[in-house]
Amino acid sequence: MQTNEISALQTELKNLATELGADIVGFCRLPAPPVETQPELVYALSVGVKLADGVLSTIDGAPSFMYFQHYRTANALLDNIGFRLARALEKHGFSALPVAASQSLGKNNPYRGLVAHKTAAVLSGLGFVGKSGLFLSTDYGSKVRLATVLTNCPVQSELPIIENGCGSCTLCQRACPAGAIYGELPTTDGERNFDAEKCSRYMKEHFQDVGRGSVCGVCIKVCPKNKL
Ligand code: SF4
Ligand code: SF4
Repeated sequence: MQTNEISALQTELKNLATELGADIVGFCRLPAPPVETQPELVYALSVGVKLADGVLSTIDGAPSFMYFQHYRTANALLDNIGFRLARALEKHGFSALPVAASQSLGKNNPYRGLVAHKTAAVLSGLGFVGKSGLFLSTDYGSKVRLATVLTNCPVQSELPIIENGCGSCTLCQRACPAGAIYGELPTTDGERNFDAEKCSRYMKEHFQDVGRGSVCGVCIKVCPKNKL
């Protein structure tokens, strides 16, 4: 495929994702293929949906049932968008693998999915990873959830990578009830400044009745980078 044909396909995919409900869409080449047996799947489409402000308002220092339901609905929407994007790529003769919005690789690796969605989003120029370890989109701040579609279609990033913009802010660190945020500038995937195990343990110990102790949202709510 010629460069202009890839560019036209990217526009088609972006329009499809937007029609299906995506609020942000980007493209990138990953540093390495996430699937060992499919090394050709080194390109990625990053999609995100914005969470509703009214639902986030129900989080007040602790998770809420409203947020838990909304979180699951956002994941389902993203998975549908990923499914349809993968089919569109296949119809154009490419391979595609949609990675679910919320995924773990099983008991031995409960906090990692096949690919870090935020890494694909950062490399697509859609935003940066904050000190919270959350992805902060240029358009909406931390109020987004993400999914990724891996492909062998040689898509090209349309936006430059954005530098971390947290500055001296430490609001998420101070608000986190689990002490899981270290308040340090992150790596691309946010791994070193956020303790996923500590976050999860706290949720399970204190909020097992809300979202089975797996969804909190406090660090999303307090971020001053959030936009309407
Ligand atoms: S989701 Fe986890 S890291 Fe974020 S505020 Fe809640 S406990 Fe802390
Ligand atoms: S609350 Fe402040 S430090 Fe935390 S991610 Fe948002 S801007 Fe960065």
